[in-house]
Parts: sequence; C-alpha cells; structure tokens
Amino acid sequence: MRSYYIAGNWKMHKTVSESVQLAQELKDKLSGSKEKIMIAPAFTALDAVSKVLKGSNILLGAQNMGPEEQGAHTGEVSVLMLKDIGVKVVILGHSERRHTYLETDALINKKVRLALAHDMEVILCVGETLAEREAGMLESVVSTQLKEGLAGVGVDALSKVTIAYEPVWAIGTGKTATPEDADAVHAYCRSVIRGLYGEEAAKNVVIQYGGSVKPDNAASLMAKPNIDGALVGGASLDAKTFVPIVQFRS
Ligand code: PEP
Repeated sequence: MRSYYIAGNWKMHKTVSESVQLAQELKDKLSGSKEKIMIAPAFTALDAVSKVLKGSNILLGAQNMGPEEQGAHTGEVSVLMLKDIGVKVVILGHSERRHTYLETDALINKKVRLALAHDMEVILCVGETLAEREAGMLESVVSTQLKEGLAGVGVDALSKVTIAYEPVWAIGTGKTATPEDADAVHAYCRSVIRGLYGEEAAKNVVIQYGGSVKPDNAASLMAKPNIDGALVGGASLDAKTFVPIVQFRS
C-alpha cells in the first residue's frame, strides 16, 4: 500500500542558521502530519538540521553524494559521512545534476547502488527536457533513465527507492504539467517498473511529481491515482508554502 511522500529540496539556499530556523518551524508545524516528509538542506547545514529533527517525523535528506565510499575525491561527500550525521535519504539524478553537472545514467546508477548498499533511501529523479518532449522522446528518455538508473538494483532494495518524475521544463519555471499529463507519465513510469520488477513492485513504488509544485496545485496533482507525493524546490524554502503542500489533504 503506497502512502504520500512530500520532500523539500532546498538546493543551494540558506545558511546554517536559516536552515535551523526553517527546520524548527517545520518540525513544530508538521508534528501531527500523516504524510511521509523529508527535507534536504545544503551539505553545510545537514549536521545542524539533523540535531533539530531528532525525534521528529521529518526525515533528513541530502541533495547528492559521491559515487565512492571514501578516498581521493576532492569536493565529494560520501555516503558514510552522510550516514554518520543522520541522513536517511539521498536525492540522485536531479535534472540540475544531469544537465548542469553532466552526470550520466552510469554515474547516477553507481551512486544509487552505493546508497542502497548502505541502507540509505534514494529518490531517483527522471524527466525529459522540453526539446525531448517536443521530439516525441518523453517515454524513451524516462525509460532509459529508469532502466539505467536502477541497473543492478534488486527487488528488495527497490523498496527503498522513490521515483521522482520531474519534467525539466517545469522545474523552477512556474510551469506545471497538468495533473492529467503528469499522471499519464507516472503511469508510464509504473509500467516500466512493472516490466523490470513485476506487478507487486509496480503497485508499491512511490512516484513523486516535481516541477513548480505550490500550495494551489498540490491537491489536484496528488488526487491523481499514480501521483504519490511531491518533490518540491522553490516552495519548500518557506514554511508558509511548504506546510500547506504537506497538508494538502486538510
Ligand atoms: C526541484 O528542484 O526538484 C523542483 C521541482 O523545483 P521547483 O519546485 O522549484 O520547480
């Protein structure tokens, strides 16, 4: 049985003190929430936010991680370091990592397998650019990202993976896929998971939508049968917008 999962990706925003303040506000305001909730502050704020979230119903996430456990990898942060400070979830394959930092499916897959080997939950992001959509490539792009991103991941480990469908043209642009349009792509993602892992896994996999989710469109998106939550960027930076998204059912 799937349950709703709302995650906030704070990207490269907020100092440590600003992050602590927002985390505390979310902890206070969302304490009775029924939904699964995660926030992903910048690396520099993870340790401080981890302390704030202790004993709360909000999971701590990282926005990325290195593809190796440790070693000579200047600028990278390892899964061991993240686990050490209480990180439970890692966002991998975000479109900004794919398109700005040129991460390939092979690299993303290496990170996915490493995170899962260390019992870390993964949010695997997939989605097409506007040019790919207009060229009729949406399904082939999304299925390649899913198949290559999940290569070597067994059905048991899949239970620790959430998929986030994020059309690149909708991220941070104010443009949102219509709920019908998004639901159709989510259904397609579910069919790819069915092909890879079978019916039970397809029924259970949580698929978030991401791309300009706001308080006024969250409920209509999540009313769709294949949309199981949201990965929220801009609107997760303020409790005034993130709290009502999490509370979309009230
Ligand atoms: C994101 O960063 O994953 C995202 C969906 O951003 P926004 O909500 O700002 O479009």
